Amino acid sequence: MEISLKGKTAIVTGAGRGIGRAVARMLAQCGANIVINDIPGSQDALDAQKELEQMGAKTLVCLGDVRSYADAEKMVKETLDKFKSVDILVNNAGITRDGLLMRMSEADWDDVLDINLKGAFNTTKAVIRPMSKQKGGAIVNMASIVGVTGNAGQVNYASSKAGLIGLTKSVAKEYASRNIRVNAVAPGFIKSKMTDVLSEEVKESYFKSIPLGRFGEAEDIAKTVLYLVSDLSLYITGQVIHIDGGLVM
Ligand code: NAP
Repeated sequence: MEISLKGKTAIVTGAGRGIGRAVARMLAQCGANIVINDIPGSQDALDAQKELEQMGAKTLVCLGDVRSYADAEKMVKETLDKFKSVDILVNNAGITRDGLLMRMSEADWDDVLDINLKGAFNTTKAVIRPMSKQKGGAIVNMASIVGVTGNAGQVNYASSKAGLIGLTKSVAKEYASRNIRVNAVAPGFIKSKMTDVLSEEVKESYFKSIPLGRFGEAEDIAKTVLYLVSDLSLYITGQVIHIDGGLVM
């Protein structure tokens, strides 16, 4: 069975690189129009646009900070002006500011919660009216296994990802009657700029705990996101799918 997203429009936040870029690429391969969001000034977003257009996709770059509700509203307006609908939202933008609780600054807590959790609230709130009017939509939130397990040194990050899971389930309950499905994916250790910065010692310890014996690729996440936004998952909402090579069972 071929998965087609032809005629659908997807907003992907933080789509300039890493997992977001892989998600944008995969949804584009299946025919979706892609709205590429990343922070203002992002060269990565322009590179992503070039790549997707070369593949034949229709794209729109909307640079904006997910922390800002005004930016989110503007992005959705521009999306509707250009593509007439917004069918898919992938809340992917995220950051880490790791440190032990005693040494974690208030700014490090605020930055992570504002981008990872409030960012998803902003974009979700901005798309929910048009999706409700359309009587359909699919939202995927990029959580993390540490939102389920907790992690020493990541009080801010784990809290933001646990919060995203609560947001996912709550919005799923509120909007199921409008045929809007809301799910989360919880990646484990995925090779990206975010994990590149970890020490060899930390990487080694993760590696040993992964039953499937390899780190994840951004494409591993993109494939599951594709499933969750496609007609293959029409009876799935409010779920959190772990994509971690079996790290957390
Ligand atoms: P990444 O390579 O650092 O990519 C994150 C993207 O988000 C970047 O393009 C970044 O832009 C953008 N971004 C950051 N702040 C933003 C803001 N305020 N507004 C809009 N865009 C913003 O990270 P990744 O590994 O691909 O991670 C993507 C998502 O997966 C994140 O939510 C992360 O928490 C989650 N995740 C990753 C892993 C993993 O192992 N990699 C595991 C679990 C969950 P700039 O860099 O240009 O600022």
